Amino acid sequence: MASRDPVADLRRIAFLLERANEATYRVKAFRSAAATIAALPPAELATRTEEGTLAKLSGVGDVTARCITESLAGEEPVYLRRISATAGTDLSEAAATLREALRGDCHSHSDWSDGGSPIEEMALAAVELGHEYLVLTDHSPRLTVAHGLSAARLRKQLDHVAALNAALPDGFRILTGIEVDILADGSLDQEDELLERLDVVVGSVHSGLRDDSAKMTRRMLAAIANPHLDILGHLTGRKVATKGEGDKAHRGGRTRPPSDFDLEKVLAACLDHDKAIEINSRPDRLDPPKRMLTVAVEAGCLFSIDTDAHAPGQLDWQHFGCERAALCGVPVDRVVNTWSAERLLTWTAGHSGE
Ligand SMILES: [Zn+2]
Ligand SMILES: [Zn+2]
Repeated sequence: MASRDPVADLRRIAFLLERANEATYRVKAFRSAAATIAALPPAELATRTEEGTLAKLSGVGDVTARCITESLAGEEPVYLRRISATAGTDLSEAAATLREALRGDCHSHSDWSDGGSPIEEMALAAVELGHEYLVLTDHSPRLTVAHGLSAARLRKQLDHVAALNAALPDGFRILTGIEVDILADGSLDQEDELLERLDVVVGSVHSGLRDDSAKMTRRMLAAIANPHLDILGHLTGRKVATKGEGDKAHRGGRTRPPSDFDLEKVLAACLDHDKAIEINSRPDRLDPPKRMLTVAVEAGCLFSIDTDAHAPGQLDWQHFGCERAALCGVPVDRVVNTWSAERLLTWTAGHSGE
């Protein structure tokens, strides 16, 4: 195949990123890579591409090196193809399409843990929003500040949910679940037998968020490999500033930087084990950050666009997640909560069978 002009491809990407109002540092990465290789003798460019040492050049990083390699091989860089695909479309329209495709929410809390309302009220709000299912994911025992459920209380909750489901309108059901703490060693904070019984298991890191990258990566990889975990909740644990909205559990307006871990390894593990990455829609989280979400899209990951609602009105926050998903080019069919309950449950059941 005839090779393309990598300099032109990198510049085109920079232009499209600028037009989409992306962060300056991202745009600059592509412009400086273009300048670096434009100044390089063609023979050296060819050798470095062959040896995989492009990223050793100052101004060239892993992402830009991949674009250059693809270009020289005669392929339109995946990065360029993705942003070209979304560049011409109206973002709000793309976000609306995603929102309409959502059939449920995989992360929500009730007053059994740190939510403000009974399960029934959460469920009725979900029915009104047009959802076909709501996964109830109250916290696990170690999260005492959030009144995490002991095994005994969770068993009680399962009976309660079964009774509620019998009384709820046809075509809607509460799916059982948990937001289980990922403990320091990567194990999950609930009995295996219970995790096995639950429809959907969201696993999240809530402690040790400033641990070093090696420790955090080990912890996350162990959790992703655990057959009970289906969805990795709020990937980085970051908190962003909001305009004062929020409930008791999340108020305070304090921001927190993302935790430090090896993103590529975490994404590769999610792919290997067929697990989904949550796009957390809470205005004070908006996690993962766009740059990570973009990498996850390119890696081919599955996603779940969830609200992490702690009150009925918050179940309508999904559009925040949809906007970010649309901006980063998340394909509709890779969002697990656009699937029917049956398909979702087949997918989660598949994890335990590994
Ligand atoms: Zn959480
Ligand atoms: Zn939560």
